Amino acid sequence: MKNGDYILIVPPEEYSGKRYRGRYAYEHQVVWWSNTGMTVPDGYCVHHKNEDKHDNRFTNLEIISISQHARSHVKPKELTALVCDYCKTPFIRDTKNVKFKKGIGQNRFYCSRSHMGKAQQVRNKSRVAQGYEQVAVNHCVGSSNLSSGAITLSSSG
Ligand SMILES: [Zn+2]
Ligand SMILES: [Zn+2]
Repeated sequence: MKNGDYILIVPPEEYSGKRYRGRYAYEHQVVWWSNTGMTVPDGYCVHHKNEDKHDNRFTNLEIISISQHARSHVKPKELTALVCDYCKTPFIRDTKNVKFKKGIGQNRFYCSRSHMGKAQQVRNKSRVAQGYEQVAVNHCVGSSNLSSGAITLSSSG
């Protein structure tokens, strides 16, 4: 029997650790108990060293605090190389973030907020010079609505 990625078994009568639905226990917790005589203390959990949650050999198990456990499962972030549209300096950003920005129609990226601001000033000035002030204002209102809508969407999912 499985619960998510973990294997559930019916433990021996004398098993004193947590049971689920009054009957089942996680096999890795039972293996830990049968090898050490100890159940998993509060605030700790049994981690699979090779990350294979079905590999419940005692040598693959270690007991660590829950906070340490969360850290041991953090995957390194994927990064994307970009070039600042203002100063042309290469820089890196979280790939997830880049995909999100592209998804909402942003295709210019900047190494810093200040360069984003400067680039915007330059664009606005050139529009004003061409007599397109009104167009620039409308464009800003439209794009800020778009991005706040998208942020609401992503936080609910
Ligand atoms: Zn783990
Ligand atoms: Zn820059």
